[in-house]
Amino acid sequence: MLRVVVLGAAAGGGVPQWNCGCPICRTARTEHPELQSTQASIAVSTDSEHWFLINASPDLRQQLIATPQLHPKAGQLRHSPIAGVILTNGEVDAVAGLLSMREGSPFTIYAHAKVLAILKANSIFNVLSENNVRRQPIAVDQAFDPGLPDGSPSGIEILPFAVSGKGAWYLEGKVHPGGNDGAGDTLGLRINDKATGKYFYFIAACAGVSDELKARLAGAPLVFFDGTVWRDDELIAAGLGNKTGQGMGHIAMSGDRGAIAALDGLDIGQKVFLHINNSNPALLGGSPERKIAERAGWRIPADGTEIVL
Ligand SMILES: [Zn+2]
Repeated sequence: MLRVVVLGAAAGGGVPQWNCGCPICRTARTEHPELQSTQASIAVSTDSEHWFLINASPDLRQQLIATPQLHPKAGQLRHSPIAGVILTNGEVDAVAGLLSMREGSPFTIYAHAKVLAILKANSIFNVLSENNVRRQPIAVDQAFDPGLPDGSPSGIEILPFAVSGKGAWYLEGKVHPGGNDGAGDTLGLRINDKATGKYFYFIAACAGVSDELKARLAGAPLVFFDGTVWRDDELIAAGLGNKTGQGMGHIAMSGDRGAIAALDGLDIGQKVFLHINNSNPALLGGSPERKIAERAGWRIPADGTEIVL
């Protein structure tokens, strides 16, 4: 059985964001605390005993406290069910949580060579001693089994693939430690339980949906997809920033070329938005935008949502 727990559904900054007084952040602090959401990450397991994180958000510590499946096993002084962390990009909201995993438990980080180069270039990540935290490169279009702590296969097959996107924001205009060319900065993942053949897709950052991506996703039982903004110019229109969704490497939910239209009619079993920015009106239950998304078969998950395939 393939189990997925949504540890966090929000984009960078979370909901509410520490310095944001937008209507959604304000209401999340006051009348509607149920809107509060931590930064995007999921946990995956096939045996309910060993878990793999997809990205390590800055809110990881809070997410682990809130998720009993990820607590140390009863009777053990030091233990974690987390066997590995798979990184799909090098953004702060995908890697900063690694710094909260520095207390000596062994696990493996799986990431593209470009993202591993970012970790290597930032010496603060050396708090994860290479003696117990292995860094394993993964490559586009090459499936891998992340493996259990004793070296045996986990039975989970993960296929990374390139999706259109951008390098980490803080590297814009800078020399990328992994080189400025080629794919690898933004990965999608196909995660497959080999025993049952059940699988799902994780695509938390995506700038546009190509015909190739549509063909890939068609018929999938479950897709987690980039839900950063409702409208491409949402941050500008709200006076919150000067970047468009596209400028940040994120497709909008709405519009002719948005995610809802692009993934319509693909016979996907469950469509779940992830990485939702606090400016996105689809976060608000009952909003016209939320209704449009739900009518099109999309779900905006609360933190802690568990999906079993
Ligand atoms: Zn806000």
